[in-house]
Amino acid sequence: MKIELICPYNKELLDQIDGHPVSVQVSDLEDIHPAAQYVRESGNVLSNIIVEVEKPLSAITFQKDWAGIPISLFVPEMGSFKDIAHQIQKIRDLKTHIYLPAENAENLTSCRILASLGITCCLVFGNQAPDWDLLSDLMTYAILGNIPHAPIEPFNYIADHYVPENNVDWGSLYFDDPLKCLHLDSNGKVSLSHRDLINSSFIAENISMIHDPIANEGYRNGINAWRQFFLDNHPCTLCKGWKICLGRFLSCGNQTKGCSAFITEMLSVVEQFRTQHQQNVGQGNLS
Ligand code: SF4
Repeated sequence: MKIELICPYNKELLDQIDGHPVSVQVSDLEDIHPAAQYVRESGNVLSNIIVEVEKPLSAITFQKDWAGIPISLFVPEMGSFKDIAHQIQKIRDLKTHIYLPAENAENLTSCRILASLGITCCLVFGNQAPDWDLLSDLMTYAILGNIPHAPIEPFNYIADHYVPENNVDWGSLYFDDPLKCLHLDSNGKVSLSHRDLINSSFIAENISMIHDPIANEGYRNGINAWRQFFLDNHPCTLCKGWKICLGRFLSCGNQTKGCSAFITEMLSVVEQFRTQHQQNVGQGNLS
């Protein structure tokens, strides 16, 4: 499987990419349609258009020509539901996933509202810790809730991919998993993550490495970075929920106490979900 490339909307760069899945970052909503069109014209496979805006979801007018374009839309908040209600059907019909910062407690409620209306939401964990109790309520609703709703990520992904023997890395939801995707700057320099790209930390000076990433030492180090936790005897390695977190909540402040209690509870919810699922399959309620 070809690795996905995350890059800015740069036609020259897109022309250098040869038949890869591509997600393009645009800074303007007006660029969504032309960027998607150009990825397809360049012979690549459009994976996503990633767009981050400073205004609330309710202030965005969803356009007809976004139809068929998978959009990852990062917004700071939902805004007034009254102003968004008339667009719910359109957002649902478009393949738009809404990314909201988890540190804003109101966004946890917004996620629940949007998901209940069939819109996929994805919580973004930044530098500040979320309200772990509220997050826990949302996580339980997302995984075990009986009322039909769209996925709330990363909970849905973790519950779906969890098997006791393996770790679950949900970084790909945030385009942050070098096993699945790499980031390019406008000159084709390659980074392991968006964070590395911003910090001008590159593993290759040009795009040619994407044809055989494993031959690149920086890439090999990147995909094995989790091992460093064990070499360092990091507190995360003692966390009961390590296998479904892999240290991803470390960015939310420098304490592991709140996140560890949360993820331990989540592991128990995920195991409960798995047991229920297996029972349903056994009883022929699911395929
Ligand atoms: S929940 Fe916190 S302590 Fe546990 S693995 Fe994740 S970041 Fe580390």
